[in-house]
Amino acid sequence: MAKLDRRLDLKRPVTVWRSQDLVEGREASALTMILRTVGCRWNRCTMCGYASEGAPASSEDLVAQFENAMQRSDPEVTVVKIYTSGSFLDPQEMPVAARDEILQRLEAAGISKLVIETRPQYVTRESVEKCLSILPTEFAMGLETSNDLIREHVIRKGFTFQDFVDASETVHSRGGRVKAYLLLKPPSLSEGQAMRDAISSARAAQEHADVLSLNLCNVQRNTQVERMWERGEFRPPWLWSALEVIKSVPGPIVCDPVGAGTRRGPHNCGLCDAAVAEAIRVHDLTQDVSPFDKLDCECKATWRELMALEEQSFGTPLF
Ligand code: SF4
Ligand SMILES: [Zn+2]
Repeated sequence: MAKLDRRLDLKRPVTVWRSQDLVEGREASALTMILRTVGCRWNRCTMCGYASEGAPASSEDLVAQFENAMQRSDPEVTVVKIYTSGSFLDPQEMPVAARDEILQRLEAAGISKLVIETRPQYVTRESVEKCLSILPTEFAMGLETSNDLIREHVIRKGFTFQDFVDASETVHSRGGRVKAYLLLKPPSLSEGQAMRDAISSARAAQEHADVLSLNLCNVQRNTQVERMWERGEFRPPWLWSALEVIKSVPGPIVCDPVGAGTRRGPHNCGLCDAAVAEAIRVHDLTQDVSPFDKLDCECKATWRELMALEEQSFGTPLF
């Protein structure tokens, strides 16, 4: 019952946490908050379970949620990340009045950098200039892949690579930073196809982004991916594949292996997951891939074999 009351409390954020992050090449103390908005207006992506988090939050509620989250801050915090399980720059989701109030309060609190997430269509001259006129901002966009066919038909993302490039230019031309999220293993792709797609996407996105963030597809509730997973048609990516993608990208790339080692999350054999996930987390701060080569496990051969077999299975994922 207590849990239910908390869910319905529109004056409190979904969650808030502190972390040490790599910010423009340096370690910084960050506060991340997820605000409960009405939710993503698009709400169609096959792996996204955020729809269940939406609620009719008003401008006042959103500012109250922000204030509540900021109570977890302290003078060490220089970076604030505001996520909404949707788009911070969508005025239907985050009313302009609430957006501007939050920006002002961040400036008053002495925060030196803001990170927000948004779909590219809400990256307009007005929204970008407003954020940047108040504080340095990183605009994170869920590009997922550089391949328009996969993004459109497999992920159902509803925008093109060119839309991302245009939004990126809008941000860069005004002095902001861009983060591109990439998805390792959209449904229907074999392990090898997914790994190669993430590598080529990282190379293409890097030209338009200051930092990449690799998301390892996990099985969220009430999604197309969950239905496929229940039918045995989807396996989350191997952590070995994630290492290969991270190793192949020359520029800054971060990755939070959410749910690593669980059936719904990215996993190897169960024995080596914790060590590999920890190496990925350490890499976020060091950007050093050399410790990856020391990781080994018997399942690495299985992973290689599986990818070789899938090449001969006429596109049917085997796992
Ligand atoms: S992944 Fe992003 S754009 Fe897609 S439905 Fe979820 S919140 Fe919306
Ligand atoms: Zn293993």
